[in-house]
Amino acid sequence: MRELVVLGTSSQVPTRERNHNGYLLRWDGQGLLFDPGEGTQRQMILAGVPSSAVTRICLTHVHGDHTFGLPGVLSRLSLDGVEHPVDLHYPASGDAVVRALVALARPGADLRLHPHGAAGEVAPGLVVEPLAHRVETYGYRLVEPDGRSLVPARLDAAGVRGADVGTLVRDGRWGGVTLDDVSVPRPGQGFAFVMDTAPCAGAEALAQDVDLLVAEATYADEDAALAREHRHLTAGQAGALAGAAGVGELVLTHFSSRYPDVGPLVEQARRAAAGSRRAGGTRVRAVDDLDRVRLPPRRRLV
Ligand SMILES: [Zn+2]
Repeated sequence: MRELVVLGTSSQVPTRERNHNGYLLRWDGQGLLFDPGEGTQRQMILAGVPSSAVTRICLTHVHGDHTFGLPGVLSRLSLDGVEHPVDLHYPASGDAVVRALVALARPGADLRLHPHGAAGEVAPGLVVEPLAHRVETYGYRLVEPDGRSLVPARLDAAGVRGADVGTLVRDGRWGGVTLDDVSVPRPGQGFAFVMDTAPCAGAEALAQDVDLLVAEATYADEDAALAREHRHLTAGQAGALAGAAGVGELVLTHFSSRYPDVGPLVEQARRAAAGSRRAGGTRVRAVDDLDRVRLPPRRRLV
């Protein structure tokens, strides 16, 4: 199963409706917890997510609204006796902050620290790229390997049916029929997480062709001067990023508490994403706490 469980959606300060940041990406057997802000442990309970679902924690940067939930979540892993290792990724310059937060937690979790200081692959299929914020910040991109999709009409024409289909997939051929004869390339499904940044090349690289992009939209377009000053995206900039990158679905979050209604931000992002490079266009939505977003279908090669 692949889905995004939204734990919190507010930037800087929580509101009555929105908790600080926090997102759990369920990706087959993995659970990637992104940017756990204050209150994440309780949000997980409200979302029905057990601590054992977390296998990897990814921090974009060490500002409090993205990290203060760490001691609580780690303590809970320990209390619950979770035995599997949990990998923690974060920018290397935040090492002292991360170690201080980890030191506050109840010991016992099998936590493995992985600081990164440059773009690259930090775990199988998981890549980081630098973003442009006020402290060292990296976004994340998770992509499955490309595969092939069987074409039923071609299987029929080649006379491959029943258990023989399994043999063909496993061995790459069945009699004189090869897998390539009866299938088409299938791009791997992709997810990207772009948080706390001014528009930059790193964000573009992360978002390229992914099926689901979670992006901050801290400010409305009319507050672009504030976004520039604090090095954040406006809703329109998030939409433009997603459209140019050919994203399947853009999820807007990390809203400033100054916008009780984020509807206008969604409209701004939609307008900016119109004319998307993606066949069929880029869908745009805002999320609320405890929303669940299924991974949209894979990109089709045309
Ligand atoms: Zn933030």
